[in-house]
Amino acid sequence: MGGTVGLTGVHKTYGRGDNRVQALDGVDVDFAAGTFTAIMGPSGSGKSTLLQCAAGLDRVDVGKILLDGTPLHTLSELRREHMGFVFQSFNLMPALTARQNIELPLRLAGRPIDPAAIDKGLAGVGLAERGEHRPAELSGSQQQRVAIARALVTRPKVIFADEPTGALDSRTAREVLALLRGVVEQHGQTVIMVTHDPVAASYSQRLVFLADGRVTGELSDPTVETVALRMAALEPGESEAKPC
Ligand code: ADP
Repeated sequence: MGGTVGLTGVHKTYGRGDNRVQALDGVDVDFAAGTFTAIMGPSGSGKSTLLQCAAGLDRVDVGKILLDGTPLHTLSELRREHMGFVFQSFNLMPALTARQNIELPLRLAGRPIDPAAIDKGLAGVGLAERGEHRPAELSGSQQQRVAIARALVTRPKVIFADEPTGALDSRTAREVLALLRGVVEQHGQTVIMVTHDPVAASYSQRLVFLADGRVTGELSDPTVETVALRMAALEPGESEAKPC
C-alpha cells in the first residue's frame, strides 16, 4: 500500500532577524513503509517541526518531503486521505459522540459513511460499547483511542503521532502504544511518533535521535535499556527522559 516518507535536505526557520530560530537544519531521513519509528530529542530540538513538515501541515524553507517518491505539495488535496494525525491533547470535538468524531474526517471529505465500518473502527480500538459516549464521558486512554480510530478511518498510509501518550498514565499509555504497533503489524501502515518516553520508544522498531534540528543517530529495535543508555550518554540536562 506504500507509505514511505522521505525528507531530503530539509531546513525550516521560524521568525526573522534576532528572533530567527533554525528549527530544522538539514534533515535527511527516510521512514520506510509499514514501519514504526519513534523520534526523541531534547525539548526544542525540532521534533514537532519535523513531524508537522513531514505531514505537510507546515512548509519547509529548503528541501523535499516525498511520499512514496512524490513531492508532498503535489498531493495536498489528497493529504487527508494519505496522512492521519494523533496529538497529545486528543483534539476530539467535545459535543460529538465517539462515533461522530470518528466519522468526521469522512464528512469533511464528503465521503459516504458506512456504519458497519465505523463499528469496526470502534471495535478495533476496543470501544465497541462506547460509540455513543462523548469525550467527557471517556477516560484519557479511551479518548486517545477514539482519536486513533478517527485517524485510521480514511485508511491513511501514514499516521503521525506527536506525544500521543504524553497525557496518559503509564498503564493506559501502553494500551495506546500497543494499538499503534498493531496498526503497523496488522495493517502495514507507517507510524511516526514523537515521544519523550523511553517506554514509548521501546514499542517502535527504530528510534531516530534529533538535536539542534539535525538527526544525530538512531537505534534499531530499541528497548527501554538501550534507550536509557543512549540518553545517559547525552550531556547532563539535555535529556528529558522520564521514567514511565
Ligand atoms: P521540539 O518538538 O523538539 O520540542 P519544536 O519543533 O517544537 O521542538 O521547536 C524547535 C524550535 O523551533 C524551538 O526553538 C522552538 O522554540 C521553535 N519554534 C517551534 N515552533 C515555532 C513557531 N511557530 N514560531 C516560532 N518558533 C517556533
